[in-house]
Amino acid sequence: MEPQTKRWKGSACDADSWVAFPVLSDQQSQDVELVEAFAAPIVDKKETSRLLRELNAVRPLNGLQHVKRVRAVRGSGGPHPLEVLVCLVSDAPDLKVVSIDDLLPPDGVQRDGLGEPFVVKVPARPPLTRPQFELASKHWPTSFHEDKQVTVALRGELFGPLRKARMSAYMAAALTAAETGAALGMEAVGAVAVDPASERIVAVGHDCSGDRPLHHAVMVCIDLVAQSQGGGCYSFDRYPACRFTPQTSGTFGGTEASSQPYICTGYDLYVTREPCVMCAMALVHSRIGRVFYGTSSADGAMGTKYKIHSKKDLNHHFEVYKGVLGKQCEELGGLGRPRQKTRAH
Ligand SMILES: [Zn+2]
Repeated sequence: MEPQTKRWKGSACDADSWVAFPVLSDQQSQDVELVEAFAAPIVDKKETSRLLRELNAVRPLNGLQHVKRVRAVRGSGGPHPLEVLVCLVSDAPDLKVVSIDDLLPPDGVQRDGLGEPFVVKVPARPPLTRPQFELASKHWPTSFHEDKQVTVALRGELFGPLRKARMSAYMAAALTAAETGAALGMEAVGAVAVDPASERIVAVGHDCSGDRPLHHAVMVCIDLVAQSQGGGCYSFDRYPACRFTPQTSGTFGGTEASSQPYICTGYDLYVTREPCVMCAMALVHSRIGRVFYGTSSADGAMGTKYKIHSKKDLNHHFEVYKGVLGKQCEELGGLGRPRQKTRAH
């Protein structure tokens, strides 16, 4: 075990070996939900704006503001290059075979600009990511307010080479802590809290659950962050690899050492394995800034079983990225105390 530590010091080579992808909310990662609507060809293009005005007045597409009412028919050599949404199928639920007169009230829309209706599928919700937008647009044109950071992150390109080298170094410190814990008979999990503003490692912890069942690496690390601020509850003197940098040990880049954040506010956490529910909730309560983990856990609460970081009902949300030194973190699985079947860390 020990000789491997040297390999994990966070070289530029390490940074080329992995990609960190964001763990997005269910809303951002789910499939595109579709709803049926009646569309009809616009037989006279010059009537388009009148038809739009009249249809919007008598058949507003409530809740579907993201859907464009008119689409150009792709590659249309046909007589009608434009099609318009007339109404939702749910607005005319009992109709199987329909004519345009069945779908519209007697007054309000002059029909002669419209051809015979047919059923199409349109996206039920506004797309939140570029992949969702591209899928949604295959069905019907849709507007999209792009979050550029999410798009870049989904391509695995959010972090450049210099940043990745730093991230590799932080995760390497977590790996080293995990190995040290494993050598003491603990589960092989390590965690490192970093202040990204100063690039300072605030605390390093490893699993100590062999002695106290709740002392998962993340819980240890959070307590050590609190200790760095004069708080904390536990003594980890028996575990020298579990350590913290006192807040008063100096300043970096002009940061005031006296302006202490609330526990993990604005901090990044690097942890070798996806945190469990308990650890994820502790990270919510301690106001962590971002979490980077190496490899998934069967019962993980940041992507696998739950996505605690994006749960709407909770009062703190944060970004989570998965895959930093993923291979090395995965290989840790064979070290240390056998992992309990139902437990993530
Ligand atoms: Zn845990």
